[in-house]
Amino acid sequence: MKVLKFGGTSVANAQNIALVKNIVSNSESDKNIVVVSALGGVTDLLLNTATLAALQDDSYKAFVKEIEDRHIETIKTLIPIASQSSVLSMVKSELNTLETLLEGAFLIGEITPKLSDKIVSYGELLSSYIISEYFKEEGLDVVHADSRKLIKTNTVNGKTVVNFEATNTLCSNFFSVTPLKVVVMAGFIASAENGDSTTLGRGGSDYTAAIVAAAVNAELLEIWTDVSGMYTANPKLVKQAKAIPHISYQEAMELSHFGAKVLYPPTIQPVLAKGISIQIKNTFDPENEGTIITKNKNEKGKTVRGITHVENIALLSLEGPGMVGIPGISKRFFEVLFQANISVVLITQASSEHSICVGISADDVALAEQAVNDAFEFEMGSGKINPVVVEKNLAIIALVGDNMKSHQGLSGKMFSTLGKNNVNIRAIAQGASERNISAVINKDDVKKALNALHEEFFEENIKQLNLFVMGVGNVGGKFLNQINQQKKYLKENLKLNVRVIGISNSRTMAFDEDGIPLKNWESVLSNGEKADKAKFFETVNKLNYRNSIFVDNTASAEVSDTYSSYLGNSISVVTCNKIACSSNYSNYLNLKQLARTYNAPFLFETNVGAGLPIIDTLKHLIASGDKVQKIQAVLSGSLNFVFNNFNDKTTFHDVVKQAQEEGYTEPDPKIDLSGIDVMRKILILARESGNQLEIDDIQNNPFLPQESLDTTNNEDFFATLTKNESSFQELYKKAVDQDSKLKYVAQFEDGKASVGLQEIPKGHDFYNLEGSDNIVLFYTERYPNQPMIIKGAGAGADVTASGIFADIIRIGNF
Ligand code: ADP
Ligand code: ASP
Ligand code: MG
Repeated sequence: MKVLKFGGTSVANAQNIALVKNIVSNSESDKNIVVVSALGGVTDLLLNTATLAALQDDSYKAFVKEIEDRHIETIKTLIPIASQSSVLSMVKSELNTLETLLEGAFLIGEITPKLSDKIVSYGELLSSYIISEYFKEEGLDVVHADSRKLIKTNTVNGKTVVNFEATNTLCSNFFSVTPLKVVVMAGFIASAENGDSTTLGRGGSDYTAAIVAAAVNAELLEIWTDVSGMYTANPKLVKQAKAIPHISYQEAMELSHFGAKVLYPPTIQPVLAKGISIQIKNTFDPENEGTIITKNKNEKGKTVRGITHVENIALLSLEGPGMVGIPGISKRFFEVLFQANISVVLITQASSEHSICVGISADDVALAEQAVNDAFEFEMGSGKINPVVVEKNLAIIALVGDNMKSHQGLSGKMFSTLGKNNVNIRAIAQGASERNISAVINKDDVKKALNALHEEFFEENIKQLNLFVMGVGNVGGKFLNQINQQKKYLKENLKLNVRVIGISNSRTMAFDEDGIPLKNWESVLSNGEKADKAKFFETVNKLNYRNSIFVDNTASAEVSDTYSSYLGNSISVVTCNKIACSSNYSNYLNLKQLARTYNAPFLFETNVGAGLPIIDTLKHLIASGDKVQKIQAVLSGSLNFVFNNFNDKTTFHDVVKQAQEEGYTEPDPKIDLSGIDVMRKILILARESGNQLEIDDIQNNPFLPQESLDTTNNEDFFATLTKNESSFQELYKKAVDQDSKLKYVAQFEDGKASVGLQEIPKGHDFYNLEGSDNIVLFYTERYPNQPMIIKGAGAGADVTASGIFADIIRIGNF
């Protein structure tokens, strides 16, 4: 004999019920007890309807109509016209009774628990009847059993509990004499001794099935649902979750207690006592083996078997100086909650005995607060105990596994993972069984916490980086292409899964929670919504992904103004935009502090020397105790390109134009030629060396004529270059006459920085600098005479993109 339970989604409509019939027909067992839930969503509808009726809101009638329509439609699709009328009239008569009950509630303006049970029982009553009639039509050897006559309940302390003695006798009597191959019965519903309808709690159809399986000594209990087993985490929230092939009763119980809704927690107890295995299977993928739950412990398997969460939790804390050393306070506290029928989900007590803190369902908070405050009124009046403190909008997440007790370091790993992802932990508890470690966190952090923990404990250390890229022009476009090319390598070799979740240019923006397909990011973006920087940030923040990185490939001050919002919400920032780091020192410092406080790296390697590892090297020098004495550098790839190509056979205008067209200058070339760009770079290097400097402290000796500096657009700027060609030629000639080359040099020494054009003589480190190369000489305490030199291509979209990429990898290895 086998018990098969089909949940709400499995019997939600005619199409799904047909799948259920196939599964039952294919069962190899000689006798099959089929326990069914209400059509998916009907229990919720019934409860809402009852609540509205009791509030004397006649909109409840629309819900009744919806309930009626769903059942009638299911019958009309499943049952041939010739046999429909008897089924329809039976169902309509039941629905009439339901309507009468609701009218009663509407008239009185009240609903008792007894009436509520009666109303809600119609979901399973109707579904089980319709399904058994359909099975009959399909030629199955079937009978419909009335669960109210088989499952009996008592009331203990105001709670409905199963009367196992009566139930077991009724079930074994009934099933031992039923000759038919299939028995269909309603889950969830039962009856009290006096015959009143009762229910077994939300999700209780699983329990019905387990009670019956135990009563008849079934060979197996199959729970058929809408997922392929019990997963390592709720598959609806964690895409990478996997079904657990085998799990022990204890682990399954712990997982379900702590939120794995796929199995109603009380389900395991009755079958555990009889050693009957439970198999969780998917109605929509019946070949899949799903999960088998048995008494066998998981001896050698993974330590952590699953990660769960319970939403809708509140913390209740009792504190006060009068609690120290006084016995009996905890006893009274728990007694009060017990009397008020409030179940405690989690307990923590500070070892100082100064406070007790419990996690309870948020629905019970008002009642609990009142009850505890009343009970300790005297102590509160005399200031020995403070009024109860309530915190809402919380959730519990838990790691569960049989073998956790014999492994050190699991809680360390759990809490450091949460910490790294900036998930604030409000309370911690470790189950006495040591089969679980739980933490109370903010409910908005649940998805992030589950995914981060899942990654840490189940995904062979593959770390997911979620990128939000603003600016997809020259540099940004190359960057996206580089990621696309390297994706596979990063995953296989560095165990980094880099996904681009959002992109934006100045016109449009687009998001894809599964990652934007990088092969056609251009079309995704052009079909996106209107770009909006504030909304972009809000979306990134709301998605609340772990390892979120905002990448700024623009040169816009408006974009760099948003960094503090990202960093302040634990979102890392990687940027090639120099504006933020060369703005006011206080702003630069604030961003660095936010990054530290919120554990979100702020990286800007490409601000100086494009992809060259200049800032990273400098950081390592300083961190290891070295001190910078002098920096000499050619930091403008653009100016180097210009002066390397400019001679008496070219014009200054044409060379600058070429540099602009080949992407060696900023979009506005004046930023390079006026020296501003180099000022920003030396400023950043000076700051990164530990100096507090402002841009105005830097001495700039411009080589451009004033009228070029005064222009306000590119066209006018280029016109002044043509006009002043002779003065540029003069600069060139003067240098050649001295056997020197023109280089735009930045210098920092003794706290002072300057930038300007210099004639560099043969033999100098800067003399042979090719193309758009950069060079930096660091003179430090450790490198006093022979400087540390970094040299190489210092401009261009490709190298800049690869520098940004390198910063992303640095965060990945963080
Ligand atoms: P049914 O109506 O079939 O009883 P439920 O909705 O009660 O189905 O339970 C199945 C759901 O449980 C899944 O759709 C899934 O969203 C949720 N769930 C939560 N945690 C887990 C988990 N660890 N493994 C599988 N499912 C889970
Ligand atoms: N129909 C009930 C509910 O939705 C019982 C169940 O489906 O298990 O809670
Ligand atoms: Mg369920």
